[in-house]
Amino acid sequence: MKAVVIGGGIAGLLAARVLSESHEVVVLERDRLSDEPEYRSGVPQGRHVHGLLVRGGEIMEELFPGLRDELVQAGAHLTDAGEARLLNAVGWLARAETGLPLLTVSRPLLETHIRRRVTAKIVDGVHVTGLSFRGSTVDGVLTRDGRVDADLVVDASGRSSKLAGWLAEAGVAVPEPEVVDSRTGYATRLYSAPEDFPVVIAELAGAPEHPRGCAVMRIEGDRLMVTAQGAGGDHPPRDPEGYEEFLASLRGPLAQMLAEAEPLTPVYLFARTASRRNALEKAANWPAGLVAVGDVVCAFNPVYGQGMTVAAMESLLFRGHTDFSARGCQAFQRKVAKVAAEAWAMSSGADRGWTDDEPGAAQRLLGWFMKKWQVGIVHDPDLFRRFVRVVHMKATPASLMNPLLFRRLARYSRQAPRPERRPAGPTPR
Ligand SMILES: Cc1cc2nc3c(=O)[nH]c(=O)nc-3n(C[C@H](O)[C@H](O)[C@H](O)COP(=O)(O)OP(=O)(O)OC[C@H]3O[C@@H](n4cnc5c(N)ncnc54)[C@H](O)[C@@H]3O)c2cc1C
Repeated sequence: MKAVVIGGGIAGLLAARVLSESHEVVVLERDRLSDEPEYRSGVPQGRHVHGLLVRGGEIMEELFPGLRDELVQAGAHLTDAGEARLLNAVGWLARAETGLPLLTVSRPLLETHIRRRVTAKIVDGVHVTGLSFRGSTVDGVLTRDGRVDADLVVDASGRSSKLAGWLAEAGVAVPEPEVVDSRTGYATRLYSAPEDFPVVIAELAGAPEHPRGCAVMRIEGDRLMVTAQGAGGDHPPRDPEGYEEFLASLRGPLAQMLAEAEPLTPVYLFARTASRRNALEKAANWPAGLVAVGDVVCAFNPVYGQGMTVAAMESLLFRGHTDFSARGCQAFQRKVAKVAAEAWAMSSGADRGWTDDEPGAAQRLLGWFMKKWQVGIVHDPDLFRRFVRVVHMKATPASLMNPLLFRRLARYSRQAPRPERRPAGPTPR
């Protein structure tokens, strides 16, 4: 059985890794690929902070034993997830050891190391332009230069996938995507890392009072990747002076902390950050021999760092799934939708605060409850630990609803200072 994977990004490479257990796999990637970690045009997001959640890191380590050590040897940093210094709307989050290994690395380095370990054939410089059909079965892909046969086609071509259009040409209608747009803009610059700078420090934006945030991650080469983020259309600018002003306007001390750091690059922008979910599993006449994974199915607002981890979770679905008939492919898409659903609920739920949508009763209740958690995780290391497990997809959001915790949350929320009277919070070290 031959599988063709469209796209050699994270979702495509991980799908190829697992499919190789049962298929001959060929990955077709539009970009020309280098053996060394390099930014490339097909992955413009690679220039921006890519936080790998603990669950995603664990799956990658399971698929490629020793990957973590390899990355650390190549300059990535390994720390405890509880070491991340995070400022929310209430204050600095409590510190606690979580026992969860957090790897900080640039997207190009991570992708390159995964690519080196994938045994599937990877063909670069191939632009897939459509699907080839035999009746209602997909039997290959069309490329700029011809056609490639396949028993199974996996679309992993990311946010800009043309899948809906290709299917429409064949008479397959997929539902309109669900879009939640926080109108977040990214602006990233690399700096030299002062010796004692934290491995991860971030100021979290929060609707509607705090549109501005920033994530700083220590990456290979003793560099800091500094990604400024502005929601609700309040985007950080490209010019260095404006960028520094944006950092200085944050509530926390990031601008002061970066005073000693030397800028190494221009500022790079990215603004196509809307969360978008395609209910492919609901298409009426889905063809045999075709599935989709990764951002093609569900692309998340990147500030929550979920995309690579959801892609990793989806890749595991290929284990034990052998039926790629039309029904089998739709069953696969239902599993993909289920894997993405929790991450979608967490990120799109928070982002609805940036949209004009009138929140329903359940939404309002959830918002009220999450505000209690925002306070609790500032005061209580145990609550912080539980929250970190959910953020890193090691526990379900439902675990935050534990009634045994309600009294503690209520107590902290009563003693919390009102945000507008609150001082900026302790310095992060
Ligand atoms: C600004 C930004 C920051 C992000 N930060 C994080 C983060 O902190 N943590 C996290 O987990 N995720 C983050 N993400 C999301 C993450 O990049 C993706 O969710 C994840 O990499 C999975 O994407 P993918 O493999 O589906 O698509 P991509 O990574 O976009 O890869 C798609 C691949 O398909 C190729 N391709 C496209 N069209 C064709 C074609 N027609 N023919 C052949 N090849 C094609 C492209 O060249 C590319 O290599 C971020 C995203 C953005 C936009």
